[in-house]
Formats: sequence, structure tokens, C-alpha cells
Amino acid sequence: MLSMTIDGKPVDTIDAFDVVNPATGQVEAQAPECAPEQLDRAMASAQTAFGEWRRDDDARRTAMHALADAVDARQGELTELLVQETGKPLGVAAGEVASAAPWIRYYADLEWPRRVVQDDPSALIEVEHRPLGVVAAITPWNGPVGMWSWKIAPALRGGNTVVLKPSPFTPLATLLLGEIGAEVLPPGVINVVTGGDELGKAMTAHPTPRKVSFTGSIGAGRSVAVNAAQDLKRVTLELGGNDAAIVLDDADLERTVGTLFAFSMFNCGQICCIPKRIFVPSGRYEEFVEAFGVAARSLVVGDPMDPATGMGPLTTRPQYERVSALVDDAISSGARVVAGGKALDGDGYFFGATVLADVAEGVRIVDEEQFGPAVPLLRYDTVEEAVQRANATCYGLSGSVWSADEDRARGIAGQLECGTAWVNCHALLPSHAPFSGAKHSGLGVANGEDGLRSFTEQQVVHTARA
Ligand code: NAD
Repeated sequence: MLSMTIDGKPVDTIDAFDVVNPATGQVEAQAPECAPEQLDRAMASAQTAFGEWRRDDDARRTAMHALADAVDARQGELTELLVQETGKPLGVAAGEVASAAPWIRYYADLEWPRRVVQDDPSALIEVEHRPLGVVAAITPWNGPVGMWSWKIAPALRGGNTVVLKPSPFTPLATLLLGEIGAEVLPPGVINVVTGGDELGKAMTAHPTPRKVSFTGSIGAGRSVAVNAAQDLKRVTLELGGNDAAIVLDDADLERTVGTLFAFSMFNCGQICCIPKRIFVPSGRYEEFVEAFGVAARSLVVGDPMDPATGMGPLTTRPQYERVSALVDDAISSGARVVAGGKALDGDGYFFGATVLADVAEGVRIVDEEQFGPAVPLLRYDTVEEAVQRANATCYGLSGSVWSADEDRARGIAGQLECGTAWVNCHALLPSHAPFSGAKHSGLGVANGEDGLRSFTEQQVVHTARA
């Protein structure tokens, strides 16, 4: 069994929990269950390490490059664990693992944010950024390695130390990342603990961290915010989305359907910021429905280790049951099944790539985040109506507009109430672009320079000269 990492050392536990391979539905590994006193030790270790780690930015940058190299050197093992615990197709898992080191290098090389707001004979006023302290980082099961890098890279560069907990559904690759981190970083700079939701609650209520960086569901995000409020920890919440994609009447059929469909099914539909409600103009509705159906029927669903596979299983049993229930509910509400529509026979949490037509608001799969391989196509008459319906939700993570006329599409994108609005693409997340959720989809900003700033405390240094 892989060990937790506390204070730079592998730590075993008395208790353990099962980890299921979603492609087989079988328990294939176990992970350590962190005891309360072990969490206290992890926090204490991170607090001690902070004293030195915060001091020397050049040393941090060097250490982060060493970490990136160490992660790259173990890509094969990390990918294998990631496939085993998430069911991602091999190529998708390898891509996620390959993205981790560049993310760390981006932050290692980023210029430290510093502003001068006044520099004249009367005063020098500088806006500086100071480390916060210990960061409690909590990740979801849909992208454990990617989310690890999204959190630790800006946290470490910001001069903070970290106690990180992955989802209990997918702890394995993150445990290995804990070991890798311990080989190249000073003890206590990154601690990895594993356990269930209660451990997450204990981390957010713990008196040591000065920031919580959380990615997960809106419900859990609320609980994190409440716990963090007790001692006013800084909070970044990256939460769920129910992204609208609005296709305009002049959109190119092949390009639009090809890209939208690929994103809506990426990672078996289990990505926060992919198209989850696709609005199509009435005049082109049947044409798009048919093209989506063709795309869905050509997607190979199966063994994640088979290179021919385009989509693996859902990652968890609860998610498999939820997606099944949402699709059944849509069908019983009158939705037309264009492709898929049901779970696949056999072991594992496989579900057919599903496209639903003649479905609209008031049906759960439209109103709620499905987080699975089932996408509804919604018919609209006017662009104003499509925008109004796209915005009529508590979600506000991201969205997209598709058109041959870039300027027209950008104008409409600007009307979407969401943190990122894409034009003729969706779910593209470069490390230098800030990422945030509007409304209930989040709080604070991740990624880019804004993401680094969010792992710091601002300090104004005001020097009077006259
Ligand atoms: P989840 O909220 O159930 O769990 C996420 C993590 O939080 C896990 O590690 C879990 O153990 C922990 N946790 C659960 N309850 C907690 C609590 N009360 N206090 C502290 N920690 C707690 O989410 P999930 O099912 O793992 O992930 C799926 C959700 O995550 C989807 O809604 C998806 O949209 C969202 N997500 C958002 C982003 C983003 O960047 N906005 C990225 C990926 C996933």
C-alpha cells in the first residue's frame, strides 16, 4: 500500500480504505486512513517548514524546477495509477500527468507580482505580496494529478507550505506525488494525507492553515466556506458548472459539432468546465442533432488501457448511478434519445455516449450539473432568448459561443454570466489564464498571475519622503 507523506517521511496508518477500479468495479487497492493526530502532525510539520520556505524565493524556484523534473521522471507510474483509480483512457491520463510539470515550471518562472502605485518626491508606495502560511488543499476525483499541480504550484511559489488531501475515490497517484515531493523538497513543504470527507472538514476547521484551496462540488464548497470563516482563512473555491454552449445560426457544422462533442464527452463528461447544455437555433436543430448522433455512435467506449478507446467508465459508482438516474428521468420526461441512453453491459461503470434532443429547462439533466457522458441539445428561437436561458441558473463557471463571425460571437460571449466565456472553443485552460467561477461556481481566482496572488497576503509598504 502507498503511504501518506508527513514531514518528508512515509507514514502508515492503522486503518485503510478500499480503492475501486471503475473499469472493473472491483477493489484493486487500499489507501491509508489518516488519524486525527496524524493530521495534527502534518499541519505542525507544514507550519515548521514554512519558517524557512518563505524566506528565499530563488531557492523556492530552484526547488520547484527539481520537483517538476522529478514528476516528469515518474510519468509512467503516475499514469498507471491514474488509469487504475479514475478509468481515464491511457492517452487522457498520460496527458494529465504530462501537464503537471509544465504547470509547476510556469509558476517557478513567473515574475513575482509587485506594483508601485506612487513614486514621487512625497512618497514611495509599493504593493507587495507576502506568503500566507500553511495551505489546506483539497482535490476532487475527476483530475487528481492536474488538480494537485494547480494547487501546489502557486501555493509553493507564493512561499506557502501545503497539506493536501485527494478524494477518497482517487488517492493513489496523489500518494505517489507525495513521495516524489519528499525526495526533492524540504520536509514538511508538501504533506499528503488521505481519507474521506470528514478529513476534509477537519482540515478546513483546523487552526493551523491560513488558506483553503478547494476544488469540488458546490455543496461541499459551502461547508468549506463556513468552516474557514471561523478564523477567516482565505478561501479559493473552484466548484461545479453547468456550462452553456450557444451555437449561432452561421456556425460551421463539422467544426462546431466535432469540437463541442469531443469536449462534452472528455473524461467521460466529468470535467467542471465542459459543454453541459448545448443551445442550437431552431432552423438548424435537426441538422445538429443528426451530426451529434453520428459523433456519439462513433465514440469507442471501453477498456481504458486499450489504445482504441475514446471514452472509459465513469469514475465512481455514485456518479454512475447519478448519471443513469438523470438520463432515465430525461427519457421519462419526453427527451428523444439520439444516441446512447443507458449503461453498458458488463462490469465497471461504463455508460454509452448519450445525446438527448427535445429536452428543455425543468428537466433535471438541463437544470443540474450532470457530470457525465450525456449531453442535452436545447432548441432556441432568438439569440436573446438563448442568452437569457443560458444565464438562468445559479451556475456560472464558463460557457461558449460558436459562429463564423468572431466579433458577433465575442459580443454575445460578453453577455454570458460566467468566469470564462470561450469563442469557437471550450474548456481550454492554459496556465497563464486566470480561471474563476461566477455565482455559485466559485470564489476567488485560480491560475495565472491572479492565481499566484491569491496564495499571498497583500502588503502596502508606504515610505514617506516629505
Ligand atoms: P466533492 O465536493 O464531493 O469532493 C471534493 C473533495 O472535497 C474530496 O476530496 C472530498 O473528500 C472533499 N470534501 C467533501 N466534502 C467536504 C467538506 N464538507 N469539507 C471539506 N472537504 C470535503 O466533489 P467531487 O464529487 O470529488 O468532484 C466533482 C465536483 O467537483 C463537480 O461538481 C465538479 O464540477 C467540481 N469540479 C470543479 C472544478 C473547478 O475548477 N471549478 C474542477 C474539477 C471539479
